[in-house]
Amino acid sequence: MTALLEVEDLRVAYGKIEAVKGISFKVNQGEVTTLIGTNGAGKTTTLRTLSGLLKPTSGKILFDGAALDTVPAHKIVSLGLAHSPEGRHIFPRMTIEENLLLGAFLRKDSAGITEDIERAYTLFPILGERRKQAAGTLSGGEQQMLAMGRALMSRPKLLMLDEPSMGLSPLMMQKIMATIVELKASGMTILLVEQNAQAALSLSDQGYVMQTGHIVLNGTGADLLRDESVRKSYLGED
Ligand code: ATP
Repeated sequence: MTALLEVEDLRVAYGKIEAVKGISFKVNQGEVTTLIGTNGAGKTTTLRTLSGLLKPTSGKILFDGAALDTVPAHKIVSLGLAHSPEGRHIFPRMTIEENLLLGAFLRKDSAGITEDIERAYTLFPILGERRKQAAGTLSGGEQQMLAMGRALMSRPKLLMLDEPSMGLSPLMMQKIMATIVELKASGMTILLVEQNAQAALSLSDQGYVMQTGHIVLNGTGADLLRDESVRKSYLGED
């Protein structure tokens, strides 16, 4: 397996508070890799650091053969790493189509952009039906689709999704998870952060469990689903 992303001994702090305390993990090309863990474990901090929004105190980030830890955020997007953030951050007054176009802000190939907008509408038909409406009129699940669609508009090599199922109905959550499976089948490499461990691990090739800034366990999605400590701590079993 070729690793598209390799993180080695990464540390990230907010002032004196260290949120990520020396973690190492890999994301293989074409696979879904998930970070699970409770609130405050450091998952979002990790994704924000990979995107260049936070500076690590130390450690190595190797993405597609290039060291990322000193590259500014806007360059990281052009290297092929896209981030659909926690809380979605869509622009509610702009239309759905304008929100999608924002994801292509670094591209100049208008034919390719039009093609990718159409692809987003194929993946999420509701976005196509409502393309001229303000994004703020979408439901939470639809806004999640828009955030994913927007991240895909940079034609990333790696798509990072932070808690895509947060606040969604079970049906909408299933739909988002099914989309992740579909994206993987199309060849996309995905790094997923989820609190819904059952759903996320079921579709993951590899999983890492984070606890208070450390990775405490890793294995295939299937292995982690069978693991007793994971079942107790993250799947709500006694
Ligand atoms: P959640 O699912 O709640 O987002 P998480 O695993 O993503 O949890 P982080 O958001 O990465 O965790 O937070 C890791 C730690 O860093 C927590 O203790 C949190 O309080 C702290 N933290 C996060 N953002 C900041 C900030 N801007 N300033 C100071 N501390 C922060």
